[in-house]
Amino acid sequence: MKIGFTGSPLERIDIERDDPAAYAARRADPRAVKLCLDGLDPVADGARLAWEPLGETANDLALLGEIDGVPRFVELVRHADGRPYRAFLGLLDALAHGESGTYAAARSLVDWHARHRFCAKCGTATEMFRSGWGRRCGACGAEHYPRTDPVVIMLAEHSGHVLVGRQARFPAGLYSALAGFVEVGESIEEAVARELFEEAGVRAIDVRYVASQPWPFPSQLMIGCIARVEAVELCLDEHEIEAALWVDRDTVRAALAGDPAAPFSVPPRYAIAHTLLAQWVEGA
Ligand SMILES: [Zn+2]
Repeated sequence: MKIGFTGSPLERIDIERDDPAAYAARRADPRAVKLCLDGLDPVADGARLAWEPLGETANDLALLGEIDGVPRFVELVRHADGRPYRAFLGLLDALAHGESGTYAAARSLVDWHARHRFCAKCGTATEMFRSGWGRRCGACGAEHYPRTDPVVIMLAEHSGHVLVGRQARFPAGLYSALAGFVEVGESIEEAVARELFEEAGVRAIDVRYVASQPWPFPSQLMIGCIARVEAVELCLDEHEIEAALWVDRDTVRAALAGDPAAPFSVPPRYAIAHTLLAQWVEGA
């Protein structure tokens, strides 16, 4: 199964990021290109992301890595907030698998630089280092690295049914897996159990990891799990969950197929909730 925002062909060459000469050589490579972005949105060239020559720029260029031996950069431009991803779902759908993974890395990196221009320790302006994979404070020496925020997203399971819920802001009819940020001092399993109890009032008996994906809005790591729960009675946190349904495999299969008779619709295939539902139908 192809998971959204994964499969990038980028060679990240982390081992050379600390070498300014290696960075300079790649920047001087006549084949080097930078990713085309429309604000933070992707720009496609057919089924591929669009790239352009580095040209002259006063902005920093972060080295994403190499694809097919060609150095790939992204320009660190300050931008307005990106559009909601649903605005460019069609474009993502048209991309070959793996292209969205490269986009995810670039988008999260550009966005992180734009939001971390000052040192979190002393407030002084920071500068890019490590070929674009960090920022350093010239005043106190603190180093700051692009962050990934872990989020658990899970299906509660009981007697051949799984629980899907919807938030008021979702498109009409859409139900998804429940989700929440992992908190400090918490394991993945503990976060799954806590979120299921807080949002739906169900107690997890065991938690199984299924798959993960980056979610670059702005920089989450979605950790997909399925949790067996001890009972089906729900107590919804109505601030978070407007409604929830227990659904069996035939119902999920119909929803995944886009059957208009299905009692709910599923998130797009780029979302790991889609992957989780599809894997559960297949017996995960
Ligand atoms: Zn500092």
